[in-house]
Amino acid sequence: GGRHSETRRTPPPIGFDEIGGQERAKRELQESLEFLIKHEEIRRFGIRPLKGILLEGPPGTGKTLLAKASAHYTDSVFVSASGSEFVEMYVGVGASRVRELFKEAREAAAKQGKSSAVIFIDEIDAIGGKRSGGQNREYDQTLNQLLTEMDGLHPNETPRILVIAATNRKEMLDPALLRPGRFDRHIAVDLPDKAARLHILRLHAKNKPLADEADLEQVASETFGFSGAQLESVMNEAAIYMLREGADKIRPEHLNMAIDKVMMGEQTDRQSTQ
Ligand code: ATP
Repeated sequence: GGRHSETRRTPPPIGFDEIGGQERAKRELQESLEFLIKHEEIRRFGIRPLKGILLEGPPGTGKTLLAKASAHYTDSVFVSASGSEFVEMYVGVGASRVRELFKEAREAAAKQGKSSAVIFIDEIDAIGGKRSGGQNREYDQTLNQLLTEMDGLHPNETPRILVIAATNRKEMLDPALLRPGRFDRHIAVDLPDKAARLHILRLHAKNKPLADEADLEQVASETFGFSGAQLESVMNEAAIYMLREGADKIRPEHLNMAIDKVMMGEQTDRQSTQ
């Protein structure tokens, strides 16, 4: 969401092993990323290189983390923007922001001596939603500019560019975006099952003092439907409860209060957006 609205240049050191669960998504992504790594072979066999990957799934499931890990895995520079940054601007501004983003990726790669770049566009539906039948010129221009940039990507160019986009509303996307040579590879990023929740909880408990009685498996059982972002909040809130009580370890009651808090927060959010 809005946490990642600013464009970034530095390759963030996020590895696939720091992402809990999402085993299928990771595997599919790694397969797709071969073309950035084995580009010589891909060219030799005349395989059409992949330009765009669409990550689809509910908020807070790790789409941004997966995009960052993809950049790290392929030794690419990472630049990102949120689709919402391109809207509510004067006519033509959204389109020039898109142009700017691609330019930024090329410049960052040149500066850092990297031969590939990953461009991440969160909330792609904000610019690539179904067209309004020519009603909204600004919106169409922004979308058209993105399509133009992607159509213009060439496998022999340096840096090689891969665009990864994220959405939680795939059915809203303009079919033009999903055509071959654009975002033609789709990867589902779902809510974690119990084993994945445990994995995520353990990752976020790594640097926190847990009492022996604090049972993360129990927490994983009680957090059906929680996203990775919510599980991260549970660990964070539990540490806050611990501090507030002057305790030096996270105890089961801190975890229980944290689960309740995150669950309540979710309900309040829902009520206020209805
Ligand atoms: P949004 O659609 O809201 O942008 P997202 O799918 O991009 O969400 P992220 O931004 O990647 O989600 O996740 C937000 C935070 O939640 C991460 O920084 C991390 O702390 C935690 N998180 C989410 N998913 C996972 C996961 N699978 N493993 C570990 N941490 C996770």
